[in-house]
Amino acid sequence: MNDCIFCDIRDGKSPAKFMYQDDDVMVFPDIQPRSPIHWLIVPKKHIPELMFVEDEDVHKKLFSVVKKMIERADFKDKGYKIVINGGGLQDVNHLHIHLRGPILH
Ligand code: AMP
Ligand code: ZN
Repeated sequence: MNDCIFCDIRDGKSPAKFMYQDDDVMVFPDIQPRSPIHWLIVPKKHIPELMFVEDEDVHKKLFSVVKKMIERADFKDKGYKIVINGGGLQDVNHLHIHLRGPILH
């Protein structure tokens, strides 16, 4: 059994307000936001972390959605930060990109 909160969100077993989703990628707000906007961009496929990505298309799809969300959040001229935790630093072992902003430094 795969005990993963982001798989549960994908499968509708745990609640999240989707900001965006398509066949491959979903976006929802971080439950503990560390800036006025803090969204998580997440592949629907369970990939434990960045180093487990085998298909380069995953990068293309994720970053195309990151760019859409930067537009959506109106961050283009305001300052934003994208972060991927890995190597054991991450709390959730399902690859995700944090998009945070506006960041004023
Ligand atoms: P990381 O340290 O990169 O693994 O961060 C995991 C992030 O997922 C944290 O910022 C958590 O606040 C967030 N998180 C954990 N559970 C949920 C959830 N059910 N819905 C939304 N965000 C979550
Ligand atoms: Zn998962």
